[in-house]
Amino acid sequence: MGRECGSCAACCKVPEIEEPDWSMEGEEGLMKAPFTWCRFARPGYEGSCCSIYAHRPKTCVDFTCMWLTNPRTMPEWLRPNRSHVCFVADEILEDGRKGVQVWEMVPGALSQRRIVEWMKQAQDRNGLVFKFGNIWKVGEADLDPEKFVDVMEV
Ligand code: SF4
Ligand code: SF4
Repeated sequence: MGRECGSCAACCKVPEIEEPDWSMEGEEGLMKAPFTWCRFARPGYEGSCCSIYAHRPKTCVDFTCMWLTNPRTMPEWLRPNRSHVCFVADEILEDGRKGVQVWEMVPGALSQRRIVEWMKQAQDRNGLVFKFGNIWKVGEADLDPEKFVDVMEV
């Protein structure tokens, strides 16, 4: 059996949502800045964390994080609402390696040693290339985990 989101609602906070044409009874458009909670989110709720799940816009229907879809690569403890880091599949690079967006949901979450260690291993073993979408301390940057450790330890 595959994984389920459970009480995680990380993707109701992390991505930007631009759905001006979305509508539902009494609601017109769904626009959300990155790193803000959606007005329909119920983080921590053990059921659907989306209060309008059946009517959610296409951006939400299409979104999956790698923890959900790649259980063999992503350990259980990396679930975004537990690790506070969200990994999202990005484009395949010309050399065949897989780009991965890394979103730090809580300031400092990416300084957890076991996450950095896991990223180094995944880079070597699974050919993942990490692209940092947001790092609260160092700003946006394309860094590899080795350089990232250097930055974070300054
Ligand atoms: S971030 Fe991943 S695990 Fe969490 S709710 Fe979204 S798709 Fe599910
Ligand atoms: S509409 Fe639902 S699934 Fe989409 S961001 Fe809001 S709470 Fe999450």
